Amino acid sequence: MSRLEGKIALITGAARGMGESHARRFAGEGARVILTDRSVAQGQALAEELGGNVLFLPHDVTDADQWDAVVKRAEEVFGPINVLINNAGILGPIARTQDLSEADYLRVCAINQHSVFLGMRAVLPSMLRAGGGSIVNISSIAGMAANYGFPSLAYVASKFAVRGMTKATAIEYGRHNIRVNSVHPGFIQTPMMVEATNEEGGDALALIPLGRIADPDEVSQLVLFLASDESSYITGAEHLIDAGMLAQ
Ligand code: NAP
Repeated sequence: MSRLEGKIALITGAARGMGESHARRFAGEGARVILTDRSVAQGQALAEELGGNVLFLPHDVTDADQWDAVVKRAEEVFGPINVLINNAGILGPIARTQDLSEADYLRVCAINQHSVFLGMRAVLPSMLRAGGGSIVNISSIAGMAANYGFPSLAYVASKFAVRGMTKATAIEYGRHNIRVNSVHPGFIQTPMMVEATNEEGGDALALIPLGRIADPDEVSQLVLFLASDESSYITGAEHLIDAGMLAQ
């Protein structure tokens, strides 16, 4: 049997990178999938490629009204949502704190952190109607430690916050059969990673005990496990997938 049979899953930032990879994996495991992204042409093309059980909706994750509209439309098409993957995110400028503008700080926090609150708030009533569910919030190794390299204080702050919001919501909704976990990837081969390193890995390789950048599907395997009933006793936890980086 497919591992996500009967699941209705919403994945944000799904037009490219890890979100796209999760979408492919989820569709292949029998879920009905709602892909959302602000990159409309790419998202639509992916949904068409993946077929009838996949719906694309244009969506800026920082907009509360758009969250309500996305959940309403998803329920009309597929029914109540029982899996939410809060994946959309940006790196923002790589800048020292004294050089980081307030506007950039707030933009990074809006997309990476505030959106996770908006998303959980919008989807939780749907999950309660579904009788339970699984929320996976994509943080980062930057949500566990701040000392491995390039991101700004804004990225680190936003990703630490995602970890805390995950635990708070897991505790609050455990008795409603809703599990909430955070995932903390290291270096994963996506457009964001290329933007961060400028050279598809470059110097980052020296920091990685396994000595290589991950394929996005390696993260999708973990996200799939957390979304599925196979992880039924796991909630409120952070899941590192970093090739041993934080073991150092
Ligand atoms: P990516 O390749 O840049 O893809 C992110 C997607 O999210 C893009 O399609 C982007 O659209 C979309 N997005 C950005 N802002 C949005 C908004 N306001 N509303 C809706 N969609 C928005 O990034 P990725 O590497 O796959 O990263 C996915 C997640 O993993 C992020 O949360 C990231 O912080 C986290 N992460 C990544 C790594 C890594 O090594 N790659 C490591 C740790 C954690 P645009 O193209 O329009 O911006």
